[in-house]
Amino acid sequence: MTNNTRSHFLRVKCNDCGNEQVIFGSVATKVKCLACEKIIAEPTGGKTPVKTQIISVLDKDAA
Ligand SMILES: [Zn+2]
Repeated sequence: MTNNTRSHFLRVKCNDCGNEQVIFGSVATKVKCLACEKIIAEPTGGKTPVKTQIISVLDKDAA
């Protein structure tokens, strides 16, 4: 069983302002919404818990 979650990008939508942006599936630092600066993801040493709505998962090899 492979763990490919780290190689994915996630398209997310901010719950607060509705801004959409693409973040990496495993972030090293907290990611803020570009529009309202709400924290939408933060690192835990493994996969990234996303605190907002994930619209789609983008495979980096397909991007
Ligand atoms: Zn926002």
